[in-house]
Amino acid sequence: MDPACYFDNAATTPVDPRVLEAMLPYLKGSFGNANSIHSFGREACAAVTKAREQVARLIGAEDPNEVTFTSGATEANNWVLRGFPSVAISPFEHGSVRATACSVGGRILANDGWQVHSGDEELTSVMLVNNETGAILDMPPAKRLHSDATQGIGKIPVDVKQFDFASMSGHKFYGPKGVGALYAKGTATMEPLMHGGEQEHGRRSGTLNVPGIVGIGAAAQIAYDQMEQDMAHVGQLRSLVKDRLGRIGDVVFVEGERQSPYILSACFAGLEGETLVVHLDSKGFAVSAGSACSAGSGATSKVLKALGLPDTLARGAVRFSFGRFNSAEAADRLCKEVEEAVETVRRLYV
Ligand code: PMP
Repeated sequence: MDPACYFDNAATTPVDPRVLEAMLPYLKGSFGNANSIHSFGREACAAVTKAREQVARLIGAEDPNEVTFTSGATEANNWVLRGFPSVAISPFEHGSVRATACSVGGRILANDGWQVHSGDEELTSVMLVNNETGAILDMPPAKRLHSDATQGIGKIPVDVKQFDFASMSGHKFYGPKGVGALYAKGTATMEPLMHGGEQEHGRRSGTLNVPGIVGIGAAAQIAYDQMEQDMAHVGQLRSLVKDRLGRIGDVVFVEGERQSPYILSACFAGLEGETLVVHLDSKGFAVSAGSACSAGSGATSKVLKALGLPDTLARGAVRFSFGRFNSAEAADRLCKEVEEAVETVRRLYV
């Protein structure tokens, strides 16, 4: 498998070799428990403090203590949404927000296109970058605002001070899986999701995943240092692919007025998105039909439905998501394969 042919970076990204290098000492000799008071523990604790500062700097938090490490964005989303007596969410949310809102009796807000209406619930949750299309959402006025910023943080400039809470995930920006964070403005007090020890200032108990936390910190540092370069790179690849696929005909691109350069959502009329995913896989390319989490469910996208896209078109949705390790040469070969596959399928089945 060639990482240059991996065009599913919204599902997860490869670990950047520099991130792995930073993590390795904490999987070997520096194995201390970050809460132990001896030197082994203090060494681990110092590494966690550095990582918290790196993440805080990337997201523009005023105080590193506004960042609490979690197992990922799913946990961060669950934590925030369970902490409020009334919750409203956008119709575009990831399953981890949607299902949690549902479990606490939350409501789905109305929308006009990508514009989400405001609600008077105690907490409103609106994602920053939609994971299926890359549309960047405007935030409605809200009493308290949470944003699942998982597809934004580490990829585009994000200033979390506009939110009360924001969720993020290390494996979306070249960090390891199983580590993420919740930003809470002014270290807002919330009922802990995990009770037990006193880790993370008593907010999130459990022995800290030091290698993972060091990994998300290193990934945040790299993202901070080379964000412009990364954005220019994926922006070029996205334009190239969009331009080529646009020439195929009967394809609709679903985009926001403001758009992340990392994701291209293309709906091919008269085609099942999954057919294309399987065909491209056989040629060594990874793409996705909708989001990875809903893939295989056979259901059409709730996001595309909320936008009013007809089912016939939504069924043909394919998500191409770009990253640091893709090349223009691989993008060019990907386009050739898509052109051929769409042509063949349409000839045989339409
Ligand atoms: N929110 C969004 C928008 C996502 O794309 C994802 C990952 N599919 C998540 C939340 C879940 O993140 P994690 O894998 O860290 O739990």
